[in-house]
Amino acid sequence: MTAVVIHAAHDLRVEPHAAPDPGPGEVRIRIGRGGICGSDLHYYHAGGFGTVRVKQPMVLGHEVAGTVEAIGPGVTHVAPGDEVAVNPSLPCGTCAQCQAGRPIHCTEMRFLGSAMRMPHVQGAFRSAFTCEAARAVKLPLGLSVERAAFAEPLSVCLHAASQAGPLLGARVLVTGAGPIGVLCVAVARLAGAREIVATDLVPEPLAIARAMGADRTHALQAEPDALAAYAAGKGHFDVAFEASGAGAALVGALAAIRPGGTVVQVGVGGEASVPLSALVAREARLVGTFRFHAEFAHAVEVLAAGRLDPTPMLTAVVPAAEAVRAFDLASDRRRAMKVQLAF
Ligand code: ZN
Repeated sequence: MTAVVIHAAHDLRVEPHAAPDPGPGEVRIRIGRGGICGSDLHYYHAGGFGTVRVKQPMVLGHEVAGTVEAIGPGVTHVAPGDEVAVNPSLPCGTCAQCQAGRPIHCTEMRFLGSAMRMPHVQGAFRSAFTCEAARAVKLPLGLSVERAAFAEPLSVCLHAASQAGPLLGARVLVTGAGPIGVLCVAVARLAGAREIVATDLVPEPLAIARAMGADRTHALQAEPDALAAYAAGKGHFDVAFEASGAGAALVGALAAIRPGGTVVQVGVGGEASVPLSALVAREARLVGTFRFHAEFAHAVEVLAAGRLDPTPMLTAVVPAAEAVRAFDLASDRRRAMKVQLAF
């Protein structure tokens, strides 16, 4: 059995890895597909992001789905042979934040493939994965493992939408057309937005944004002033999802929303300079969004029902043994949107 392990920046290895028999309350899952996420790429290129750094070898991966191979004592909600999506989020249920109804902010959170804690929480890019049974969400009939591996990023976007408020009839801007940006486009469409505009620096990902439901797109390297038209007359959009993590995009979004509009900051970057006059004079709402909780099961249902099609995003499926090639491909925004590893 193998795993995709980050040792340090630019040091990604495919290594032998054991998957023990499941103990009480555990399952062993044969992983089928694993989507490479922006945070996996941050570990690969920079050894982390913000203050989070890889300090010990860590299996990457938190967008995975597969087939239950074995169950431990006491596990009743899945059985061997069931296909499942793996929920990377596992709040403790007992800390002060969990008790207060804020499981996303659990102080004992064990999020897969994350170096936020010491020891790091090992991820799920491995051919077989023994984990808490609570992570396994059984796939409804007809949902493939390949599509189910989109449940995690879709959950992020469903939660972002809940932070935005009602989207029915809304004019929506999405800045940054990476995987999260284009899924925000699709979620806004699903939620009944009347108009969706997406921006990025480069044109290639915007073609996918259009395939996922954007009405209009602007490549800002070629048309740097494209958002100025939307800023006229005190702004156009009811809601903006800022999915690039770039300060300039946040400033552009704040200028383009109408008075009382909402900017949901989805992308994680470094620091941004916010023009307080724009925030204050527009009575704008600037709100963060972080991961998801109940949205994971919702995402599985949305995908199973075919209400949202992630397949335009899927650039390539690469054998896990070629993980370095897959990570390099996924890093090229002009050639790749979502790259999946096949185990
Ligand atoms: Zn907790």
